[in-house]
Amino acid sequence: MQLYSTNNRNIKATLKEAVMQSLAPDRGLYMPESIGKLPEGFVEGLQNRSLEETGYEISRLLTGDEIPAADLREIVSKAIDFPAPIVFLDDNRASLELWHGPSLAFKDFGARFMARLMSWFIRGEDRKITILVATSGDTGGAVAAGFYKTPGIEVIILYPSGKVSDLQEKQLTTLGENITAIEVEGTFDDCQAMVKEAFSDPGLHGKYDLSSANSINIARLIPQSFYYFEGYRQVMHTGLDVVISVPSGNFGNLTAGLMAKKMGLPVKKFIAATNINKVVPDYLESGIFCPRTSEATISNAMDVGNPSNFVRILELYHHDLESIRRDITGFWLDDDATRLAMKEAYDHHGYICDPHGAIGYKSLDMTREGEIGLFLETAHPAKFIDTVQETLGITIPVPESLSILANKQKSAVLLPPVYAAFRNWLLSR
Ligand SMILES: *Cc1c(COP(=O)(O)O)cnc(C)c1O
Repeated sequence: MQLYSTNNRNIKATLKEAVMQSLAPDRGLYMPESIGKLPEGFVEGLQNRSLEETGYEISRLLTGDEIPAADLREIVSKAIDFPAPIVFLDDNRASLELWHGPSLAFKDFGARFMARLMSWFIRGEDRKITILVATSGDTGGAVAAGFYKTPGIEVIILYPSGKVSDLQEKQLTTLGENITAIEVEGTFDDCQAMVKEAFSDPGLHGKYDLSSANSINIARLIPQSFYYFEGYRQVMHTGLDVVISVPSGNFGNLTAGLMAKKMGLPVKKFIAATNINKVVPDYLESGIFCPRTSEATISNAMDVGNPSNFVRILELYHHDLESIRRDITGFWLDDDATRLAMKEAYDHHGYICDPHGAIGYKSLDMTREGEIGLFLETAHPAKFIDTVQETLGITIPVPESLSILANKQKSAVLLPPVYAAFRNWLLSR
C-alpha cells in the first residue's frame, strides 16, 4: 500500500515506513493513496462473520499486499481478542461498548494492533525500537498494555505527576518488563515538549531508534474501522438507517469511521460529539476551522483544542465543506449538560455511561424516525469513577482488571520538567 503526506502528495511511503516513522518527514500525516471498496455482498454477509474475520478482511483492504495473508490474520486475531458488543437502550438507541479490552478504553484496539504490526515489521532485523509517549491519561494505559512484552520494542511513557487519576497512574507504573514510566514534575505540555525534543535530538540517535505511538500513527486507525462494521452487524436486523455518534478529541476514531463508510459501510450519518472544546462542530457550522487552547472538562480525553486528525477528514472529502456536512453533524455539551445526560441514560434506561459516552448518548436526540442511533462508549465508566459516582449518586462495580491494580506497587522514575534531565537519564541507562 502507498501512503502520502497530507502536507505534500509527492511525499510517499510504504505502510512499513508510515508505521515506523509515524509522522512524514515534512511533518504531515500519512493517508492511504486510495481506499478500496469491499467486495459486493460484504455488508449483507456481515451477519455470518466474526469481528476477527471482518477485521482481517478490512485490514487486508487497507494494507494491500505488504503483509502475507496468514501473518495478517494472526496479527488481527492476537490484537483483537475481545468483543465489541451492542447494548440496546431502547428500540432506536444503542451503545457500542468499546471498552472490553485490557485497559478498558477503545484505544486498546489501536494500541494492540499497532504493537503487533510494528513487531512484525522489525522481525528478523537486529533492531530495538524505543517508543516515547507523553500521556494525559488514557493513551498511556492502552499503549503500555498493548506493547507489554512485545519483542524488540520498549516503551517509555511520560506523565504529569499528580495530574492523572490513581487508576490511570497504576496502569502505567505497575507493568514493568519493557514498559518504563517517567513521572514528570510538571504538566502534560511539559511531557509532550520533552518527547518532541528527544525526537529531534541527534545526540540520541546512536543509542536509540525512536518511534511514537500516538493517534497520528496510521496503524492505530486501521483497527478502529473494524468495530464500525461490528456495530452495524448487530443492528442491521432492525432494517433502520444507521447513525453513529463518535465522542471525539483528536478525531482519530471518527476518521476511522469515515474510512469504513468509504469502504462501503452504509452509515447514513456520523455525529461528531464533543465537549466545550468544539472546534470541529464550530467548523461544521461556520466553515472556518479555528484551533484554540483546550479547556479542562470532565470528559478529559476530549480536551483537545487542535485535533490532529482533522486534516485527514479534510483529505477524505477533498476539502469540500458541503460533502463533509452531508456525512457529519456536530454536537457538543458542557459539563453540566454532560452530567444531566449521564443521569438521563441511567434514570430512563438503567445504563451507566462514562462522561465521554454520555455526550454521544445525548447527541442521539438528533436522530429522526426510521433511524437507529449508535453511540460509541469509548471507556468503561469505572475509569472515571469519581465523576460517575458523584453524578449518579450510586456505587458502581469496578472490573477486576482495575481493582487488582490498587494493591500493585508503583514504579516510576521521577524527573523535573526539563529536557536536559530526561536526556541525561536516557543517555545514562
Ligand atoms: C481518546 C478518547 C476519546 C477521543 O478519541 P479521538 O480518537 O482522539 O477522537 C474519547 N473518549 C475516550 C474515553 C478516549 O480515551
